[in-house]
Amino acid sequence: MASVPRIATSVAQLKDALRDLGARSRRVGLVPTMGALHEGHLSLVRAASTECETVVATIFVNPTQFAPHEDLAKYPRTLDADLELLAQENTDLVFLPTNAEVYPEGFSTYVEPSQVAVPLEGTFRPNHFRGVATVVLKLFNMVQPDVAYFGQKDFQQCLVVRRMIADLNLPIEFRVCPIVREPDGLAISSRNRYLTPAERTRALAISRSLTIATELIRQGERSAAVIKAKIEQVMRDAGIDRIDYVAVADPDTLMENQAISRPVILLIAAFVGQTRLIDNCLVE
Ligand code: AMP
Repeated sequence: MASVPRIATSVAQLKDALRDLGARSRRVGLVPTMGALHEGHLSLVRAASTECETVVATIFVNPTQFAPHEDLAKYPRTLDADLELLAQENTDLVFLPTNAEVYPEGFSTYVEPSQVAVPLEGTFRPNHFRGVATVVLKLFNMVQPDVAYFGQKDFQQCLVVRRMIADLNLPIEFRVCPIVREPDGLAISSRNRYLTPAERTRALAISRSLTIATELIRQGERSAAVIKAKIEQVMRDAGIDRIDYVAVADPDTLMENQAISRPVILLIAAFVGQTRLIDNCLVE
């Protein structure tokens, strides 16, 4: 049975709702999102409800993690559908802060993220992780969860948040949930809705290239250059020619080595038409 979640749009309302839910004496799980919810987000909510008595989802399209030329203004906003989905998952509380609540007049203090924020996404989206780390810390301070749930889909983001939790002694357990994919392999993303049918077909080359590369490594290929070249070739053959990066990296540090000798993370960011997609795959 779906139950309607409480909704809070200010920190004061959030505190009242958490108190009414008796959150202090229970485990509180937090799922931060930017809305336009899909099965990937819902998998985090489900993970939270199996471990926590109180599940809080936040929906906030965070302006400080978007560069001026990025899609902040046209980022999909589907609040009614989001609330419906969260009700079906028995979310207890949805926090929908306004911009003014998160970034009051005069706001000027940011989190400086760790080294792991520097390569890959950090190169192509220079202030992105500063914005992410700042808003995540603010949401942690507002909600004060016991456990926080993030998706492996944003692998580098997980490393940045995990490091921040450790470095700033935040009393929060950190969970990473697996990437949820469409049946044909496409990693689910709020941005997939920008794709035309032809682009969506082309986008399948991203996950396909990861599957092929994983298989090559399992068969014994140990050259990172060979693996990267294969991934790029599969994408280019499908017509994806604007590739921000393909990386074969250490899953803890994101350092790239020539020889694959330990578990590696394969990471891709590429444009399909105007839409920038990311995907990754951990090869144990
Ligand atoms: P976003 O709304 O894009 O900021 O994503 C909110 C959270 O959902 C982040 O922790 C994402 O990593 C996670 N997420 C997004 N897409 C997926 C997916 N396909 N599978 C698992 N988690 C996801």
